[in-house]
Amino acid sequence: MSSIWHMTTAISQRPPLTEDIRTEVAIIGAGMTGILLADRLQSAGKEVVILEARRIGSGQTGGTTAKITAQHGLFYADLIDRLGEKQAAVYAKGHQQAIEEYRRIVDERNISCDFKNCRSFLYSDRDIAALKREADAAKRLGLNARYTESVPLPVDMKGAVCFDDQAIFHPLKFLDAVASDLTVYEKSPVIRVENNRVMTDRATVTADFIVFACHFPFVNFPGFYFKRMHQERSCVLALKTELPPPKDIYFGVDPDGFSLRPYKDMVLFGGGSYRTGTGCGGHYDWLKKAANEWFPGAEVQAQWSAQDTVPARGFPYIGRFSVDHLNWFVATGYRKWGMTSAMVAAKLLGDMICCRENFMEELYAPDLFSARELPQILSDSGRAVASIASHALPRRVRSLRSVPTGTGKEVGWCRGAYRSDDLRLHVVSLRCPHLGCRLHWNREEKTWDCPCHGSRFDRHGRCIDGPAQRDIRL
Ligand SMILES: Cc1cc2nc3c(=O)[nH]c(=O)nc-3n(C[C@H](O)[C@H](O)[C@H](O)COP(=O)(O)OP(=O)(O)OC[C@H]3O[C@@H](n4cnc5c(N)ncnc54)[C@H](O)[C@@H]3O)c2cc1C
Repeated sequence: MSSIWHMTTAISQRPPLTEDIRTEVAIIGAGMTGILLADRLQSAGKEVVILEARRIGSGQTGGTTAKITAQHGLFYADLIDRLGEKQAAVYAKGHQQAIEEYRRIVDERNISCDFKNCRSFLYSDRDIAALKREADAAKRLGLNARYTESVPLPVDMKGAVCFDDQAIFHPLKFLDAVASDLTVYEKSPVIRVENNRVMTDRATVTADFIVFACHFPFVNFPGFYFKRMHQERSCVLALKTELPPPKDIYFGVDPDGFSLRPYKDMVLFGGGSYRTGTGCGGHYDWLKKAANEWFPGAEVQAQWSAQDTVPARGFPYIGRFSVDHLNWFVATGYRKWGMTSAMVAAKLLGDMICCRENFMEELYAPDLFSARELPQILSDSGRAVASIASHALPRRVRSLRSVPTGTGKEVGWCRGAYRSDDLRLHVVSLRCPHLGCRLHWNREEKTWDCPCHGSRFDRHGRCIDGPAQRDIRL
């Protein structure tokens, strides 16, 4: 189930790291964050290498819907309540500037990546008061926002908040162009980081600065990011429709709201968010049914899913990884708004590494705890403890013969098995190698997923999403 981006790009391969090297900055992860940051640092004269576990853009950036917008759901009114107008304005300014920065890079380098300017609509068919409050808050923060009852969608909506000057693009064509002058080692998974040394499975990089741009940091202590975030997945359909696709980008704020954007003659239709490890299937069917009501007769050209980190404090952690390691940096917790967040991270971390001041440093500092994080942190910790403890519960040992073809199933104490079409059994440990939570079978994606921190493993037990870094094959 490849995304439309992977189906329409072939990023040229890079060799793995095979010998020890020294550099000024080592970046872990070649997604939007890692590539934008490396580009910025290299332009500032720094020597940078990127270590990528798989391929450039193979992480969540390859599964995004690539709306470049400062409109991040019903967000700004709440942010003002939480942080006050001054800090909320810093957030708004940083993300609007990020859109302009994408525009500048695409124009100056003449990058062919289907970049288009557009408007962004936050729509609802119920909660008009919330939309008006959001439009008002965004306007107060300096964004080009307004409430409108004219919503150009095929289904009637009561109203929307409209932001002008937003954009869309093809994220992998963009990434490929920007990465062309950068030193990236692919198939070079980082397995350990110690002081100023980054160790891959084959070699070591010694660096003055180390950046975790790997989506979910896999070092648990210090930092404790696993306690401050969980992951949520959602599905996307690329639809060929009889009517021309909508020109702008849309995000529904109601519980059954959808995300829409055009790509060429298609509409990308997304929705149905759920916490990773808790999905019980049927998400694509549900989305296809809704798509058929919105665009009768539409044909599905591609379907895929992806996941993003959701921070307990409600906005990203970008800055020094922890007070114990002042030369380590991190950017994570993007809440599915990673295009502008990655650009914000590249600007902020780029300035911090180059010892320049940046107006966003205080806002995003990861060590800034807020009491509002606590309920989420406590509930997530409770979930993790219950999941780990559940390994001790007595379980019925099922015969391996009971596993039907094409399905994964728990077969006993801490063991699961998947039977492939050629009738081979793939037996795995159900103890997540990250922190030991109990993995669940996701029958729709045919993966073993962790409900605590969102690690995922394919049907054969290979790790496909962190924070876990090891396989569960037995
Ligand atoms: C369905 C969906 C739709 C979305 N749509 C939008 C949208 O329209 N607009 C928007 O702004 N945001 C959107 N997002 C969010 C956005 O896609 C992500 O926030 C963003 O792509 C994250 O980029 P990243 O570089 O931080 O992570 P990634 O792209 O995941 O990159 C991290 C890289 O690190 C590598 N890595 C991991 N561990 C290691 C290791 N140990 N060693 C070496 N490499 C490692 C991975 O292989 C990966 O390539 C969406 C998210 C989802 C789930």
